Amino acid sequence: MQTDDLDFDRRHVWHPYTSMTKPLPTYPIVSANGYQLILGDGRRLIDGMSSWWAAIHGYNHPVINQAMHSQISKMSHVMFGGITHPPAVELCRRLVASMPSDLECVFLADSGSVAIEVAMKMALQYWQASGHPRREFLALRQGYHGDTFGAMSVSDPINSMHSMYSSYLPINRFVNTLARRFGETWQTGDDAEFTALFSLYHNTLAAVIMEPIVQGAGGMYFYHPEYLRVARTLCDQYGILLIADEIATGFGRTGKWLACNHANIIPDILCLGKALTGGTLTLSATLTRRHIAEIISDSDAGCFMHGPTFMGNPLACTAAIASLSLLEDKEWYHRVMAISSQLSSGLLPLVDHPNVREVRVLGAIGVVEVTRVVNISLLQNWFVEHGVWIRPFRNLIYVIPPYIISSESLAQLINAIASSLDYPEHFDSSIPI
Ligand SMILES: *Cc1c(COP(=O)(O)O)cnc(C)c1O
Repeated sequence: MQTDDLDFDRRHVWHPYTSMTKPLPTYPIVSANGYQLILGDGRRLIDGMSSWWAAIHGYNHPVINQAMHSQISKMSHVMFGGITHPPAVELCRRLVASMPSDLECVFLADSGSVAIEVAMKMALQYWQASGHPRREFLALRQGYHGDTFGAMSVSDPINSMHSMYSSYLPINRFVNTLARRFGETWQTGDDAEFTALFSLYHNTLAAVIMEPIVQGAGGMYFYHPEYLRVARTLCDQYGILLIADEIATGFGRTGKWLACNHANIIPDILCLGKALTGGTLTLSATLTRRHIAEIISDSDAGCFMHGPTFMGNPLACTAAIASLSLLEDKEWYHRVMAISSQLSSGLLPLVDHPNVREVRVLGAIGVVEVTRVVNISLLQNWFVEHGVWIRPFRNLIYVIPPYIISSESLAQLINAIASSLDYPEHFDSSIPI
């Protein structure tokens, strides 16, 4: 890429969560292969991010590429209204077979946020159809479900900037799950807030929405599986729907196929995205139980009211089928476990570093929470200079590498994080957390 491309980019192109007047630097990536990103000047970076949880098989995977090539010569897209096609049918067949058996009706959409909107609208239409309209959701503090309005309204009220859109956002209820973390011992009374909120609001709640176990963009916290069992039990008791947002955690990232499996619960509505296509194209799926689909469909509305233009995009479905086929031999499990133990032995000792507050590892997720907000610009640059792609946010330096990463390259990611902690300029002492 030329310098004037970067100038144009800086002047005209929005990037996520950065200023148009004082943008954070962007790095030109011209190709990607396996677990490496290749910069415009030829340097190779070891990928620690899987392009935000998505590229679990690495980049340019021959099996996914081959499948997409063969689909592209048939058709890239066709409308889904009144039409169906082999890739959508095959993908849904595979999803129904590989997801919990009660979740058998699949809605395909174009991104994770839209999958959440779809799930929330299903819950609202379900109550509407049953003759008792409800509009409240119970969500988790520190949660993140996307950037559209419904999704924002169930994301953490503080760190997802509710205040900025407060006049426009619906009001929902929030419960804390940080009191008991993953791996700690559950104590009687840990479910007190959950139980209290249910007894107060069970007449107005349409659904509970949770990221199972791992709270991603809301702070990279891992909470105790018992919270999921408590939610499932209370939802059953009061007839309230349970929505699981597995957009980040699905397809093995936490060491289980779904993070819900840590608690052996089945949600009523399940949202998948990110790694669904192995990180190649945008696609999401919202799965639900047949009786919910039936209640919605047999209502006055007569159908579920959503239908994106690119619904069931054949090329994206084809990529997803190929990605699922790569996961079939369960090799992902051994890779995730190997990554997990290497992250544990490499990162957990960093808790003794004076700049570190806490270190957390679960599955192929490693999180170093530091004591101050990081200077993203300086730290990002330092990582690039050291040959790794790690994108920190707030006070969190974390890695979610592709499952195919080699142990040598994973060691490089870990060493880069460890060494980066020694530079005071990487941390902004003026910004409180
Ligand atoms: C990324 C994410 C979303 C939103 O997905 P997009 O594809 O970015 O719209 C929703 N929920 C969770 C848990 C996520 O990590």
